[in-house]
Amino acid sequence: MQKNTDINKVIRQHLHMDEFFTGGFLIKGQKNMSEQVESEESTIKSSAELEKIADEVCKCRECDLGSMRTNAVPGEGNPDARIMFIGEAPGADEDAQGRPFVGRAGQLLDKIIMACGLKRSDVFIGNILKCRPPDNRDPAAEEIISCLPYLQKQIEIINPEIIVALGAHAARTLLNTNKPIGQLRGQFHEYYAGLGRPPIKLMATYHTAYLLRNYSKENRQRVWEDMKKVLAELGLPIP
Ligand code: URA
Repeated sequence: MQKNTDINKVIRQHLHMDEFFTGGFLIKGQKNMSEQVESEESTIKSSAELEKIADEVCKCRECDLGSMRTNAVPGEGNPDARIMFIGEAPGADEDAQGRPFVGRAGQLLDKIIMACGLKRSDVFIGNILKCRPPDNRDPAAEEIISCLPYLQKQIEIINPEIIVALGAHAARTLLNTNKPIGQLRGQFHEYYAGLGRPPIKLMATYHTAYLLRNYSKENRQRVWEDMKKVLAELGLPIP
């Protein structure tokens, strides 16, 4: 009878052996081959877990918004993202397409991501609420309470190094505070990701929709200063 062999384990053992002889030549900071295999396995796992959450979100009827939506917007992006951008809730364009930040505010977010020398596919983009509130009204407390566990699980799976909270609703919800965004932005805070897990750094900044409504040089400069702090914290070059 054929033995049930864990092929990934065999590959890992082989690579560990390989590294034993070649390890001295590895450049610091680069992943060696077995680390690469492990990280690919973990990406596949995270991706599957995120898809499961997205399926749950698409069936969710925990609050009234579930019966009003055209599409739920679970969020999208890199399961290994170092940065997660979190907005407030889908708008009309997002509701129509089932994707986050695809309207005018999304196009501005794309520009900010590009200005940082990154691609949309490098990061993960999500929202506090996964369904559009009618007439784009503010999220209601009970909607946030029902929806937040989905985002908390997404954060747990992706485990980003930095969360960028876009606007007052995202920042206040994630930091559990009522402070105005003007006081919260521009500095790192800590997001508590659960018992026994180290806090995740959170940068609060203006929402891109606010920026579009208040498109002054000062406000654009403020958002750019916030993003430069994020890049510096990640050790990424500031373009
Ligand atoms: N505004 C948000 O907060 N989220 C989106 O997905 C789009 C606009």
